[in-house]
Amino acid sequence: MAQHFLKSAASRSLSLASVLQMSETEAETLFKQVRWPETNGEPVCPSCGSLKIYDCRRGNGAPRWRCAQKECKAEFSITSGTLFAFHKMPLRMYLAAVAVFCNEVKGKSMLALSRDLGTQYKTAFVLAHKMREAMAHDMGATIGGEGKTAEIDGGYFGGYVKPENRREDRKDRRLYENRSGKRQCVVVIRERGGRTLPGVFANEAAALNFIRSRVVTGTTLHADEAGAWNDLHARYVMERINHQEAYSANGACTNVAESFFSRMRRGEIGHHHHVAGPYLIRFAQEAAWREDHRRLANGEQIKAVTQLAMKAPPSTEFRGYWQRAEKRQ
Ligand SMILES: [Zn+2]
Repeated sequence: MAQHFLKSAASRSLSLASVLQMSETEAETLFKQVRWPETNGEPVCPSCGSLKIYDCRRGNGAPRWRCAQKECKAEFSITSGTLFAFHKMPLRMYLAAVAVFCNEVKGKSMLALSRDLGTQYKTAFVLAHKMREAMAHDMGATIGGEGKTAEIDGGYFGGYVKPENRREDRKDRRLYENRSGKRQCVVVIRERGGRTLPGVFANEAAALNFIRSRVVTGTTLHADEAGAWNDLHARYVMERINHQEAYSANGACTNVAESFFSRMRRGEIGHHHHVAGPYLIRFAQEAAWREDHRRLANGEQIKAVTQLAMKAPPSTEFRGYWQRAEKRQ
């Protein structure tokens, strides 16, 4: 039997130990090369694109530069204008955080991340969500195309209602009026041999416009027997599988979409415990990215997430929060 990819030496191309052995200068060089690959790591002014800049690092502090253009004079650091803007920890620690995050294949508990890095929970929380935001920037706009096959499926998350202790006090939690209203549906579109694209909706029927706008016409869509998908027959060639009868029949199955939910559900049960509310989409995007890059060596994954974070604009969700959390320490 062929060896599983994750057991092979090829899957381990960068260890946490080697990241932690890096000097801060080595980490800076690596971040500079990731941020400015076109100049081989030479800083470029983020405001005007000028290469004429001078060093204005203060003492032994983090590297800073100022643009030499008279009308610009922008001052910036390695992370200015990126997801890791206003970084407070040494850059090596960000690389370590990305390494720890990537090495867990189903997801990383944010409490465990705070213990690994020796930071407050809030710091680990924001950092983990920024890494998820970086992964989200890697999601394609559309899925499929002429001759391609994609699968769609939905899964429900959040809104758990704890049953009463005594049997006579318990309510039928299947009934709409006894639900919390916080339950949300993650709908995933996954191309066979291609990319994964999740979205969050109230239910499967609410996802139809998302599917229509993201799945290119000409794609063959596989879906289960849920009635919500019936309206899609007007636009796509559909293959339906009735899961009451079989998981796969006559070539129709949604097993690839189910693999995504398997990973996401294991992350929920084993690491996050509670994936719900406004952050549900981020957890779904994280699971999708992990699923799509599961056969990439860990060093490549770490580099890819760092690159995405350095290319992404500052977080819209966690601006300011990060600095406040760090300053209180
Ligand atoms: Zn400039």
